[in-house]
Amino acid sequence: MSYFRQTKIVATLGPATESKEMLAKLITSGVDILRLNMAHASHQWVDDAMWFIREASVEVGRHVGVMMDVKGPEIRTGIVDAPIEVTEGDHFEIHVEDANPTGDVAAVSVNYPGLPQDVKVGATVLIDSGLIRMKVVAKDEERVRLEVLTPGSISSKRHINLPGVFVNLPCLTPKDEADLRAGVKAGIDFVALSFVRQGSDIRTLRAFLDELGSQAKIIAKIEDQAGVRNMREIIAEADAIMVARGDLGIEIDYHRLPLVQTKLIAACRDAGKPVIVATHLLETMISAPMPTRAEISDISNAIREQADAVMLSGETTVGKYPLESVQVIKNIIESIEPSVTFELNRRLVLEEPKAKMLRSAAFLAQDLGESAIIVFTRSGYLAYTLGALRPRGVPVFAFTDIEPLFRQLLLPWGVEPFLMNFCDDPEQTILNALNLLAEKGWLKSGTMTVAITNALEHGKVVESLQLRRMP
Ligand code: PGA
Ligand code: MN
Repeated sequence: MSYFRQTKIVATLGPATESKEMLAKLITSGVDILRLNMAHASHQWVDDAMWFIREASVEVGRHVGVMMDVKGPEIRTGIVDAPIEVTEGDHFEIHVEDANPTGDVAAVSVNYPGLPQDVKVGATVLIDSGLIRMKVVAKDEERVRLEVLTPGSISSKRHINLPGVFVNLPCLTPKDEADLRAGVKAGIDFVALSFVRQGSDIRTLRAFLDELGSQAKIIAKIEDQAGVRNMREIIAEADAIMVARGDLGIEIDYHRLPLVQTKLIAACRDAGKPVIVATHLLETMISAPMPTRAEISDISNAIREQADAVMLSGETTVGKYPLESVQVIKNIIESIEPSVTFELNRRLVLEEPKAKMLRSAAFLAQDLGESAIIVFTRSGYLAYTLGALRPRGVPVFAFTDIEPLFRQLLLPWGVEPFLMNFCDDPEQTILNALNLLAEKGWLKSGTMTVAITNALEHGKVVESLQLRRMP
């Protein structure tokens, strides 16, 4: 078998990539999941993007999952007529939406009514994704007076960070609910929720998706101190996690970010949940054709830490080199992945006998050397768990007859999904699977594979782990 990539690639869609022509190239280039960032998108845009993605997929014969990223309790500045320039030492005011500004200094409104209560005098407030730094010098019920520490220009709808504050906004805003309705209608496969602070945030989202009749998998974005503090309960509730380093690097001490990344990846490994490392992986490639050496090392680090996926944002939304960025990531994965040595994931607790069989299958396939694991799944659990076991150098070929699940299987590490009908006779199903793998050139004739499948034994269905040779 030729080289098999185990680390997955997520790319965010934007002006640089949203045309059907670019989408086809992006999908061909090897992206596994496309992200629709709802900070900037209309519902018409979602519909169009979805239509183009599915059409381009059929054209190029390669499928991708689609993730809708909803903004959750994000704090933003209101509308300003013209950008406000602030310089060091200036005083500035932030007021809640229905309050009048004091009038003696430049001011902007904020969408979070609790902000004046929640910030203390002396606390830091950051505007425009951490670019502009201010210190709270005074406050009343509706207004906060700030002193500018780092200069900049404040425009409409800029992101505000309040490091260390447990933001008392609902985890799903009315806009998020409207976005999700549009997304579910369009057929999204994943929902990423921003600023998840506790396990109950995920339960709230899950209940809402249930109401809409959606089976979309939930990705919890960890991007503030509450999310880090409550990571275990969030991981337990969510289907996957995103290390959202953009906001995380503002909300916690930036120099502790690598420690938190390592901790989150390890916690996901313990729970058997996929984890995505996001933001600034190839930031310089927004305007330059080559990455910095530091960016190469950062991506290598994520691969060595065994993240399931790495994510591109600005590189593919507004960057000049979106396709080159994907190629650079693929090159780094291809060089680094084979050099990573690690044991099978022993910390993942498997309760059911059938789940325990997965660990044996992974062990056996690794022991065989040039091999593969074949699994049949209708809930995705078996395939997600096999990925989480991290069988080194062994592809997990996951077969399902459920189309949405087929695309959701694109996320976990090392899993290659196939959409195929199942037969009443499990033997016929496995023969069909082996033939499909041969046809598509995934495995050479004679290769020994490990199959987890049902078998008929004197008319009874028994769960089995089989050694099967490729036809
Ligand atoms: P965003 O989330 O791009 O939606 O802000 C990712 C991050 O904060 O890293
Ligand atoms: Mn963010």
